[in-house]
Order: sequence, then structure tokens, then C-alpha cells
Amino acid sequence: MAECPRCGGELREGEVLARVLTLGAQVMSPLSSPGMLGMPGMGIPNGETKSEETIIWREKTGRKKGWLAKSDEEKTMKITGRRCMKCGYIELYAQE
Ligand SMILES: [Zn+2]
Repeated sequence: MAECPRCGGELREGEVLARVLTLGAQVMSPLSSPGMLGMPGMGIPNGETKSEETIIWREKTGRKKGWLAKSDEEKTMKITGRRCMKCGYIELYAQE
């Protein structure tokens, strides 16, 4: 099991998501929906309007691609990470 570099706590795996709220999205406040599950301040997504995207890592490989118009070759990787369950420290890494 991986350990937190800061406090030695347990690290739990996760991934980074970008939450994209489209225009016109309506998030019901907990006040207007008594009795519904959910944490305060979290809001309850109204369905349909919510989408999530994974953030990717992009880097230049140092190589050139193309043989007519040369441009920097780039590669993208998915970012995953681990969060310390004790202190909240997040460690990110991009795997090829
Ligand atoms: Zn920690």
C-alpha cells in the first residue's frame, strides 16, 4: 500500500475530472429540495446538463513530427493520482 510522503497516511487512488457545467445548467439548492440526499453545499445535479471530462497531460517529446512542415511532437497522457486519506495531500502522475 502506498504511503503519503508527508504524513505516512494511506493513499487512495483516484483520477482528476473536470466538471463542465453547460450554460443553463440548473443546480437545485438543498433548501429547495428538503429531504433529499446529498451533502450541504454540494447541490444536486439536475441530470442531462452535467458532464464530466478527464483532464489530460500534454508534453512535448522533443522530437519533430512531419517531414514537410516540422512541428513539435506532443503526446498526451491521462492523469491519475492518489489522495492521502489523512492529510489530504494529492499526488498526481501521468502514465503512458
Ligand atoms: Zn498525508
